[in-house]
Amino acid sequence: MAHITLDKVNKVYGDSFHAIHDLTFDIRDGEFMVFVGPSGCGKSTALRMIAGLESISSGEVSIGDRVVNGVDPKDRDIAMVFQSYALYPHKTVRENIAFPLRMAGMKSAEIDAKVDEAARILELTPHLDRKPAHLSGGQRQRVAMGRAIVRKPKAFLMDEPLSNLDAKLRVQMRAEIAGLQRSLGVTTVYVTHDQVEAMTMGDRVTVLKAGRLQQVDTPQNLYNRPANVFVAAFIGSPSMNLFEAQLDGETLRLGSQEIPLPAPVFETRPSLRSHAGRPVIVGIRPEDIDDASVTEKRAFAEISAPVTLVESLGAETLAHLEIDAPQVDAEGVDDGTEGRRPASAVGRFAPRTQVRPGDRARLAVTAENLHFFDRDTRLSIW
Ligand code: ATP
Repeated sequence: MAHITLDKVNKVYGDSFHAIHDLTFDIRDGEFMVFVGPSGCGKSTALRMIAGLESISSGEVSIGDRVVNGVDPKDRDIAMVFQSYALYPHKTVRENIAFPLRMAGMKSAEIDAKVDEAARILELTPHLDRKPAHLSGGQRQRVAMGRAIVRKPKAFLMDEPLSNLDAKLRVQMRAEIAGLQRSLGVTTVYVTHDQVEAMTMGDRVTVLKAGRLQQVDTPQNLYNRPANVFVAAFIGSPSMNLFEAQLDGETLRLGSQEIPLPAPVFETRPSLRSHAGRPVIVGIRPEDIDDASVTEKRAFAEISAPVTLVESLGAETLAHLEIDAPQVDAEGVDDGTEGRRPASAVGRFAPRTQVRPGDRARLAVTAENLHFFDRDTRLSIW
């Protein structure tokens, strides 16, 4: 087992494409770390640099206390699990799992014992003599896991290992992989673009955007204390609602609405007062907006807004609303219309709400969980 450290790691592809910028963080011994971010943000590149499959343009990667920049992938004592599983089609499950041990020159009796143990853990024992073509997707995935765990490496590196599975199997396998990692205690880096996978599996999650680190934190902190507008919008589904607003003393001006902010909002965010008189970005999660006529949630402000669409999901109802405040683009790319479009918002309403499209709903907004961001730096205000 080992901790993994990245110190000012950069990756430049070709002459000029800067894919990773000064990536610096630690993965603790035994930790399950997830890399998440939109397509092309550099998750796989970062993982492949740890694995040694991609050269490092500058900076240092260490596994344990050893700098591994110049070390061959096979000498890094890591095991990789890929999206494609990369199984040998002509070998049986037993031979596939045994492969890394054979390569290491282990004796047959010892290999058999280790393969049997891995198969038992992964519930593959009945399938040991089959070929991959005769297995389901989930079973193939388990064989790929078996090949990784049989060696007890310093770290597991997994690149979107569940993306070929259907939705139901993904849910089952993500729980299995997380449980297995916890029982083995092997440091694990797991790449996904799926924020639900990141939130449910990771001890901590690294959020990347365009090759730059946004936040490394526990799932709970990413959700409750996002570092900036991008993380706030990326984590959570439906996304956090983001608006441009103005802070006037203790009143929040959101379009034509005035929301008096109660004292605890300022007490828990000491630097908020220094933003008075300036535009801020305010974030409200969908679950903090409800239909005021039916909610039992403790609301501190009521505003009203037209309902454009209602989606009944059974346990909850998503109401799409039009708020007359300027919308904020979470990507931070101002296409010239930012701040000029009216904002659409989503409220997670109680299922017994009676609102219909075309209604003007009275909205209850809860206080504690309002998020504030600096309009210019887009960093959280605390
Ligand atoms: P995805 O979720 O789509 O797999 P990712 O976050 O894993 O994306 P990477 O595969 O790490 O992203 O790619 C990061 C950036 O580097 C992308 O813009 C990609 O086009 C670019 N890139 C990746 N590999 C190469 C390469 N061999 N040569 C040039 N550019 C590359």
